[in-house]
Amino acid sequence: MPRQFFVGGNFKMNGSVEAIKKIIGNLNSADLDPKTEVVIAPPALYLLLTREHLKPGIEVAAQNVFDKPNGAFTGEISVDQLKDSNITWTLLGHSERRVILQEDDAFVASKTKAALDGGIGVIFCCGESLEQRESSKTIEVVTTQLRAIKEKIADWSKIVIAYEPIWAIGTGKVASTEQAQEVHAAIRAWLKKEVSDKVADETRIIYGGSVSEKNCKDLSKQPDIDGFLVGGASLKPAFTDIINSRL
Ligand code: PGA
Repeated sequence: MPRQFFVGGNFKMNGSVEAIKKIIGNLNSADLDPKTEVVIAPPALYLLLTREHLKPGIEVAAQNVFDKPNGAFTGEISVDQLKDSNITWTLLGHSERRVILQEDDAFVASKTKAALDGGIGVIFCCGESLEQRESSKTIEVVTTQLRAIKEKIADWSKIVIAYEPIWAIGTGKVASTEQAQEVHAAIRAWLKKEVSDKVADETRIIYGGSVSEKNCKDLSKQPDIDGFLVGGASLKPAFTDIINSRL
């Protein structure tokens, strides 16, 4: 079975009621490739509004979820609350949370386990800094991030791995098709060796970092690139061109 192409939109801390309704309107009226799975991740405040207005068939993701059940955790959102609100995915391990909010591998892995155990799909982000790339540590960094979740989870069927080199995020400096393909192939080889042939064959590995309507087509032709996680461009009408990049 070929892997289904997957495009996520990460709105980050952007948008307003009006702006998000406009994005949803664009998505609802666009002709989207029915073969592509589409998931958008608005800020938590707008999750319900997004779910309410977005057409069925496009899923909604949180940008984060906590690893504990409902209780005294001010400012956090639980897996059960996502499920109760019909939010079926979450991002986890985004570099902005790892770097700015100092989330470490163990915490990201614990949240990944909690989400998967509760039936929420996880877009698991990994990627290296420029300094790490320049010192040839890319594969080591990415596989260390993956190893932390491997130790906690058994079922990989609800995980999408987003390879997002930090130096490419929001910089306009996209990884070349060769750079991205090389890391994606290395991640797949790691899954084959460390998890199983089946998980290596079936897991979607998507690329994120300055994806645009201009560079998406070439990237989408690479054998190990199964889609995209799109930040800035997901707020623009051209997001639909990225969703349709394989057409
Ligand atoms: P960008 O962000 O597309 O704006 O580079 C991608 C991301 O951080 O998920």
